Amino acid sequence: MAPARIRLSRSVLEEVPNVRMKSVWRRLLGVEGAVLEGLKFDEEAGAVVASVRPARRDRQRCGRCSRRSGRYDSGEGRRRWRGLDLGSIPVYLEAEAPRVNCIEHGVTVTAVPWARHDSRFTQAFEDQTAWLVTRTSRSAVSELMRVAWRTVGGIITRVVQEAEAAVDRLSGLRRIGIDEISYRKGHKYLIVVVDHDQGRLVWATPGRDEAALSRFFEALGPRRCARLELISADAAHWIASVVKRYCPQARLCLDPFHVVAWATEALDQVRRQVWNTARRRGHYDIARELKGARFALWKNPENLTRRQEGKIASIRYLNEPLFRAYLLKEQLRLVFKKAGSLGKQILGEWLQWARRCRIRPFVTLARTISRHRVDIETTLDLGLSNALVESVNTKIRLLTRIAFGFHSAQALISLTTLALGGLCPPLPGR
Ligand SMILES: [Zn+2]
Repeated sequence: MAPARIRLSRSVLEEVPNVRMKSVWRRLLGVEGAVLEGLKFDEEAGAVVASVRPARRDRQRCGRCSRRSGRYDSGEGRRRWRGLDLGSIPVYLEAEAPRVNCIEHGVTVTAVPWARHDSRFTQAFEDQTAWLVTRTSRSAVSELMRVAWRTVGGIITRVVQEAEAAVDRLSGLRRIGIDEISYRKGHKYLIVVVDHDQGRLVWATPGRDEAALSRFFEALGPRRCARLELISADAAHWIASVVKRYCPQARLCLDPFHVVAWATEALDQVRRQVWNTARRRGHYDIARELKGARFALWKNPENLTRRQEGKIASIRYLNEPLFRAYLLKEQLRLVFKKAGSLGKQILGEWLQWARRCRIRPFVTLARTISRHRVDIETTLDLGLSNALVESVNTKIRLLTRIAFGFHSAQALISLTTLALGGLCPPLPGR
């Protein structure tokens, strides 16, 4: 009986495992729909290299539109695509990359089911990189994925382009915010458009002028422009004139985020003045206290640590005008927190207080705010939540710092879209 059992298992080893192992390997490599021709370990590259080819139904398709097309030539021969590591070993897929002649796109490299067009990485590799970018630090992404940060910029641009083609992010917009964001140390600008109802970024473009903003409304089209009810923005004239031309029916209001930012700036001016005076008079202990209080003054009181709360309390005794300036900033924030008629009432009281406070930056601010009072009251009537606007704005500004080093505005736009536009792909296989 025993020899028969041995014969049986030997035949199983010879026939079935090859097919079964190939299917296991296809799953490990993420090329289930393709043909696995062979596997080797490339000693020089220290990597697993898998020879693959697309299944018959996926062959000779245009890399840009996937239309089946006539073969043109063999292109540049065999190519490699970086895949996700197997354990700690890098993986490459290797295949022929012939060219086809698409009736729409002309001579193009054929599509492969495991990678996006024009990429040296597999789709799974790119999706995982994009997922990580929105959740961890630059250096962690680069080290874990073994790619340069500039390469990451190209990866996320491809991921976002693909996701954008699949969804219409401009549909259903009712209340939007338009903002300009500076990057590259304030030398360059982006216009960003956020959806107030969903708290997400819907559009971004390089520039800060009428022509750049017009591109958004052109993309939106007349029917969707007509459905916009509210547009919030900073006080820039060029924004108002473009909005008037494309959406005369929409109510334009002043973004609460910017009004509060003006107050924060005024407060910082006061702090610097007080600090300089203290130093000039040789009050070094007071100067040191004030310098340490900088972040405590900026922060919203609900986010203060206990130590920072102590700093604010000590300012009350150290310098009375600075403490009043702090209260003025907080009172202005309260205006938008309360909104509606109560907000308007607090705004009226705030203006009276600020005009007479004898702290110059706030007297100037009171004048600016008086000039924009109608727009601010519209904001309060419409109950635009400052919390949402502020959080999206703060996140975008943070991303411009993370994106430093991408060398292209498109990569920065892709990063913000990925993180705040709801377009981040799930992790491969989840
Ligand atoms: Zn094509």
